Amino acid sequence: MKSVDDHLADCLGAVEALAALDVALLEASDCLLAEDVVSPISLPPFDNSAMDGYAVLAADVAGASPDVPAVLPVVADVPAGSGESLRLTPGTAVRIMTGAPAPAGADAVVPVESTDRGVAKVAIHAPTSPGTFLRRIGEDVRAGDVVLRSGTRLTPRHVALLAAIGRDRVMVRPRPRVVVISTGSELVPPGRTLGYGQIHDSNGVGLTAAAAELGMAADHVGIVEDDARAVLAALEDQLVRADLLITSGGVSAGAFDTVKEVLSRIGTVRFERVAMQPGMPQGFGTLGSERVPIFTLPGNPVSAMVSFEVFVRPVLRKMWGEVGLHRHTVDAVAAQDWPSPAGKRQFVRAVLARRPDGRAQVTPVGGQGSHLVADLAHANCLAVVAEDVTQVRAGDVLRCMLLDRSRR
Ligand code: AMP
Ligand code: MG
Repeated sequence: MKSVDDHLADCLGAVEALAALDVALLEASDCLLAEDVVSPISLPPFDNSAMDGYAVLAADVAGASPDVPAVLPVVADVPAGSGESLRLTPGTAVRIMTGAPAPAGADAVVPVESTDRGVAKVAIHAPTSPGTFLRRIGEDVRAGDVVLRSGTRLTPRHVALLAAIGRDRVMVRPRPRVVVISTGSELVPPGRTLGYGQIHDSNGVGLTAAAAELGMAADHVGIVEDDARAVLAALEDQLVRADLLITSGGVSAGAFDTVKEVLSRIGTVRFERVAMQPGMPQGFGTLGSERVPIFTLPGNPVSAMVSFEVFVRPVLRKMWGEVGLHRHTVDAVAAQDWPSPAGKRQFVRAVLARRPDGRAQVTPVGGQGSHLVADLAHANCLAVVAEDVTQVRAGDVLRCMLLDRSRR
C-alpha cells in the first residue's frame, strides 16, 4: 500500500499554480494578485472638502465667535462633481459640499455647523486654522506609487482600492474551476423521493460545497449511472470547463465500479490503495489533451470528505497559488481509548473541546463507519492517528485537523 504522504506528494507534484489571467474586478476578490499595481493617478485626485461648509482663508475668520462672527460674502457654490476651477478671493467665502473641489487659495473649510448657513453672506462663529477639513491631492496615494504587490490575496478592501485608482481589470491567479460528478446507479438528487435501494446523492453537494468554501468556482454537474459509456461521456463533456475534476464512487473492487474500469483503460489515471482509514481506494491522474487533473474519490461519504480534506484541498490551494496548503491543526488530548488499524493512518471524525485546564480535548463522534453522514456532520475535526499506532489511549496527544472555515 502507498503511504498518505507519498500519495499527497504525487498529487501535488502533478499540478502547478494556474497561469495568471486578466479578470474583471469583481471576479478578482479572493484571488491572488499577479502583478505589482502602480497607481496612474493620485488619491485624492484633487484638493477637496472634507465637510459641507464654507471654503475660506483661515486668516479671514481669526477671532470669530458666536458673539462676534466673521461675516463674509458667499461668492460661489461648489457641489461635489463640479468641474469648475475656482480661486478664492481673500475676504470672501465659497459654499462647498463634501468631496467638492476646493477653490485654489482657500486654506480651510469651516463646517456648516459653525455658521448661520448663509447663502449670500455667511456668519462664521468659530475660528479655524490652515488645513482644517481640506483633503489634499495625493495624501492617500501618489501617482506612480505601487499600491498593491504581486502575491497579495485580494480582499474586498483591496478591490475597492483598485477601483479607486481606476482599474476595472487586474491580473490574478484565477480561481480554479472545479467540476464534481457523482457516479452510482443508486443515487437520486436531494428533493426527490427515494425508491427502494436508492439513496440521495450527498457527495455531490458536499464536495462542491467544500470546493466552494475554499473559494473555488465549483460546479456539481449531477449524477451519472454506473455505465461505462455514460461515465466517459460525462467526463469528456466537462473537460473543457474544468481546471480539476472530482468524481465520487465507482472506484472500489465491485463489479460495477465503472469509473475505475473506464479510466484504467485510458491509462492516465492511477488507482491505488493508500494506507489510510477511511479512504483507501484513491485514483488520481490527468485527462484529455489539456491534462486536466482528476481525483476519483471513493463513494462512501466519509471517505469522500476525508479524501477531499487530505488530498484535494492541498492540490486546489496549490493550483490557486496559495502557500499554506493544509488545514490548521491543534494538538489535543484523547478523551477515550479506541483502536486504530495497523499500518494505516487513521482520520477519526471527532469533536474538539476545551477542558477546564485550558487544554484541547478530542472525542470521537459516534461510530466510525464510512457511511455515517450524520456523525460526520457533527464532527469539527479529524484526529490523526499515526500508522504505527494500533491503540489510542485516553490521555494520548493527537494532531487534529480543524474542519471549519473560521479556523482555516
Ligand atoms: P462506491 O465507491 O461506488 O462503491 O460506493 C461506496 C458507497 O458509497 C456505497 O454505499 C454507495 O451507495 C455510496 N455512495 C456512492 N456515491 C455516493 C454519493 N454521491 N452520495 C452518497 N453516497 C454515495
Ligand atoms: Mg458505486
